[in-house]
Formats: sequence, structure tokens, C-alpha cells
Amino acid sequence: MPELPEVEVVRAGLERHVVDSTIDSVEVLHPRPVRRDHRGPTGFAAALAGQRIVGVRRRGKYFWLALAGGDALLGHLGMSGQMLLHAPGAPDERHLRVRFTLRTPAGTPLEMRFVDQRMFGGLVVSAGGAGLPTEISHIARDPIDPEFDDAEFVRRARRRRSAIKRLLLDQGLVSGVGNIYADEALWRARLHGERPGDRLSGPVLRTLLGHVRDVMGEALAQGGTSFDALYVNVNGESGYFDRSLDAYGQEGEPCRRCGTPIRRVAFMNRSSFFCPRCQRPPRSR
Ligand SMILES: [Zn+2]
Repeated sequence: MPELPEVEVVRAGLERHVVDSTIDSVEVLHPRPVRRDHRGPTGFAAALAGQRIVGVRRRGKYFWLALAGGDALLGHLGMSGQMLLHAPGAPDERHLRVRFTLRTPAGTPLEMRFVDQRMFGGLVVSAGGAGLPTEISHIARDPIDPEFDDAEFVRRARRRRSAIKRLLLDQGLVSGVGNIYADEALWRARLHGERPGDRLSGPVLRTLLGHVRDVMGEALAQGGTSFDALYVNVNGESGYFDRSLDAYGQEGEPCRRCGTPIRRVAFMNRSSFFCPRCQRPPRSR
């Protein structure tokens, strides 16, 4: 699944290549990715044709193309989505779902393609959404957003009795922190994920936030070059996840700090990985 750094790579890549281009035409090859658009596939295409792209923005794992008329093309990559750029005539991908034919300011045609095998992702035209689509206005900023408010995060987390790992995954508090980043940041901070928010100090929470930012930044740095080749793979299978993980997926492996085998426990239909020695569980209240 594309994690936030991959989505940021896509956003930044699109920003470099499609801003100031105009959408000449839209071809919906499968209706499912535009299922949330009440206009239907034909209306979706019609609402975008002729619109000029003025920016590419992101909130959590959602990205949107801001359009000159004030609307937005809002997208989510789901489990397997990709946004690809090609010169026209490049062979179609097997799972090509939506084709946008753009015209750059220089008059060059460019294809932007939404490719999605499993189709949990999707695209929708958000009326008036150029600044921030109302569909996602409830989602908090993420820690690598320059306008993320650390003090506000600390204040809100300290009012909650929930486990810190749940708080990290709460999209209303901080967005974009998936299971992997949460486990890695908690390991670095030597914090057990079950520690309640209201029992953590401000400095501890700020340190944790710093680790979240570092882990995301490292993933971003490793995934951040592929778009310039006009092709980006956002399947979440970047080398980062194979080489650099200290906790996530490391069950039974020695902790890189203390040598104690990493433990795995069930967590919200998924797993949590932690070092039982470096990350002590909380005492009960
Ligand atoms: Zn350890």
C-alpha cells in the first residue's frame, strides 16, 4: 500500500510536470475508480475537459490537482494505485483505468494515467475544492506538512487516554502515519505503543513526533527520484521497507539496540512490532 512518502513523491512529481497544463480530454476506461463522483464517468470527464491545472496539493494520503476554475481533481491511490506520466502513444498498462490527455504550456501533449489493479483507490471532481476539498477537510495535516502544528498535536494527544499508537494512527489528530511508520518511530523513541497519551510528557511527545518525521523523511529521500523518469511506482515496495526497518516485520530478529528478539502482537487486525526490553509496556492505572 502506498504510504504517505510515496504519495508525496507522486504529488511533487505531478507538480513539476503538469502545473500550467490544460486537460484536453479524459477517457474513463473503467467506472469503478470514479464511483464516488455523482456525475458518473461521462460527467466526470466533462467536468475536467478544458480545465487548466494550477497546483498539486496533498492532505495525508489524498492529493488533488487544483484547477483554475476553482474545482479540484481529488485522488487517493488506495492499495495499488499509480499516477503515471507518458508521452502519447506509450503502450497502455494492463490496469489503466483513466487516461487524461494534457497539453503543456509549450503545446506538447502529455498523458497522465491512473493505473490501479485492485481499484480501492479513486478519483473525484471536488466542486470548489481547489484550496481544500470539503471531502477531506476533516483530515489532519501530516508531520511532513510545513504547516503541521506540533504544539497542537502535543496538547490534543495529552488530553487523550488512548494508546499512543492509536493516536498516531488517528487521522483526525495526525494524518499519514501508517502502521509501519508508527512502529518504527515508537521503537526509535523507546516507547511502547500501549502507553496512554495522557501519561506522556510534552517533551516525550515532541521527540516521538521528531522520530515520525525522520522515518518519513528517510523513506521520502529514498523514493524521491523515480518520478523524473516520467514513471513512478507507488506500490509501497520501495527498497526502504526491505533494508531500513528496525522493528516492523522483524519478529524474532535481534533488536539493533539491545539484541533482545523483536516481538509481534496483534493490533487492530494488523500487527505491532516492538522490542520488549527497550519499549516497556505501561503499568496499569
Ligand atoms: Zn531493544
